[in-house]
Amino acid sequence: MDKFKGIETPFYYYDTELLRDTLRAINTEAGKYEGFCVHYAVKANANPKLLNVICQAGLGADCVSGGEIRAAVNAGFPSSKIVFAGVGKTDKEIELGLDKNIFCFNVESVPELEVINSLAAGKGKVANVAFRINPDVGAHTHANITTGLAENKFGIAMDDMEDVIRRALAMSNVKFVGLHFHIGSQILDMGDFVALCNRVNDLQNMLEARKVVVENINVGGGLGIDYTHPNRVPVPDFKSYFSTYARHLKLRKGQKLHFELGRSVVGQCGSLITRVLYVKQGTVKQFAIVDAGMTDLIRPALYQAYHKIENISCDASPKTYDVVGPICESSDVFAKAVDIDECHRGDLLAIRSAGAYGEIMASQYNCRPLPKGYIAEELQ
Ligand SMILES: *Cc1c(COP(=O)(O)O)cnc(C)c1O
Repeated sequence: MDKFKGIETPFYYYDTELLRDTLRAINTEAGKYEGFCVHYAVKANANPKLLNVICQAGLGADCVSGGEIRAAVNAGFPSSKIVFAGVGKTDKEIELGLDKNIFCFNVESVPELEVINSLAAGKGKVANVAFRINPDVGAHTHANITTGLAENKFGIAMDDMEDVIRRALAMSNVKFVGLHFHIGSQILDMGDFVALCNRVNDLQNMLEARKVVVENINVGGGLGIDYTHPNRVPVPDFKSYFSTYARHLKLRKGQKLHFELGRSVVGQCGSLITRVLYVKQGTVKQFAIVDAGMTDLIRPALYQAYHKIENISCDASPKTYDVVGPICESSDVFAKAVDIDECHRGDLLAIRSAGAYGEIMASQYNCRPLPKGYIAEELQ
């Protein structure tokens, strides 16, 4: 791996060619249907170099904090394509959104709606608002990343939806422009999205009967990636994803359908590159101790997530290892009992499918430096 020579490990490496292929697939598949608009969920990875590539592909930006709004604006996303979601927006963040004239606030409670109305009044502006509705639809994914159940903290209950819309219609400094949903992440069963479509159809029928017009429907993100076979399935199945919505969600004339994809856009293009420090024979196990830890990639520790690990320095017969980091936590383990080509001190390992919720979730615990991120163009 000559291109990685002399670069301090651990670091993230992003295959921008794969990212561009992924974005092309998104634009091709979503482009088949009238009114489909795709946004990128910045929280998956806010590396400015990636944001730039994604912005150039024409996607909008879905932000969940003031910092993400700034990152999106700096990367060149037009404010008319920025939406701001989140269950706990601060006044300062709302003011930033108002100052930048973003397209829409996805509102999650009545108190938040009142604050947005009053802050907008203070600036003599009218803020577009959409309501995030909790559709009480479960997703077949890890319990920590399902968000659309009645028990989750997110959104407004379906029973309160009409009342909240009426309140917004009576306010002078907010404009009701749509409904927002998001049921969870790493969803590979299209049936979960069908369930969401059915729910949205029911809610739309109900609102239509009461003469409430909804200009925009936003179904969030959540499409998963294949962590087991990053080489075999580098680009997620966007064809099935968008056609599921086209077939099952009954859009009204002129209505726009918004998507906010995070993981499926950037997940497969990123790898965490780490160096083997020591190979240690324990009493029952063999450990590959690497210089990356849960501070660099927390998904295995946080969600018991699987990432494929490859030895990119050495092509030898595989041996079985627990791949562990240097952090003083027993959960600082990338994989247990995995077969990897025989490891030696100094070998580079690639922890694959780490483009989403990797670099952005890094911390400085143990006073460690944050990992750097490089795109392919920087390392020829
Ligand atoms: C996290 C999130 C997304 C993106 O989810 P992915 O699973 O990464 O596609 C989209 N919308 C909202 C509101 C989110 O919180």
